Amino acid sequence: MNRRFLSVPLLLVFLFVMLASFPAAADNSRAKDYPERAVARMYVKYKCGCTRIGNGTMVGRRGLITAGHLLICPSHSRWADTIQFKFGIKNSRDCLYTYTGGYQLYVFDTFKKKDGTIRYSNENNIGYVIFDKNVGDKTGWYGIYAPSAYDLTGEWYHWLGYKNWDLYSDYGFLNANDSSNVFTFSSYQSAYFQGAGIYNWDEGNSGPTLVGVYINDSGSTCYGRKVTSDVIREMRKNGAFD
Ligand SMILES: [Zn+2]
Repeated sequence: MNRRFLSVPLLLVFLFVMLASFPAAADNSRAKDYPERAVARMYVKYKCGCTRIGNGTMVGRRGLITAGHLLICPSHSRWADTIQFKFGIKNSRDCLYTYTGGYQLYVFDTFKKKDGTIRYSNENNIGYVIFDKNVGDKTGWYGIYAPSAYDLTGEWYHWLGYKNWDLYSDYGFLNANDSSNVFTFSSYQSAYFQGAGIYNWDEGNSGPTLVGVYINDSGSTCYGRKVTSDVIREMRKNGAFD
């Protein structure tokens, strides 16, 4: 047999194996798992032309909760024009599920000023999406709970969101007070998690329970916006849990 004839296909096989192994090494191996698959990487394009990438978390069959500033541009007070929702990101090309149907966006009135313009405020920075179609039966969803300051203060909670193509989970030691909808915590990781859910998974719970949304950080201090009872009440009224 011609030796040169053999070596070329062998070289090609070797190159193929090498190239194929690199994306595999970067894959998110938990992409299809619950609760990871209930977290969306969101590609937002606002009506002002600005773009942003963030996270949202399913909390019912049709409801996704996120930071308000992912739904309204904090610089120009314009609504998101298009949002692509990708659940269970495996790598830069592949995910478990991309939502393609219609949806409604909601932020709280207190996110807006009295004159109708919209301000960026930690205190009011929470919003949600109601999908026209049933998403939760594909992705699963978190429980949702309106915690008291007592529930939050001094407790350790998880947060989970996308940083580039990877899902990162971290722990935060929370501090909250009664007069604010905002709690603070420290994190070891630099933030790329805007809109990511902050949750606990106590023993005996059937799944994770979301108590807040990560909104921003300043130095080593991170800020979360509590889930409040009015958030849950409005989400229920608008069909998030149907
Ligand atoms: Zn803008």
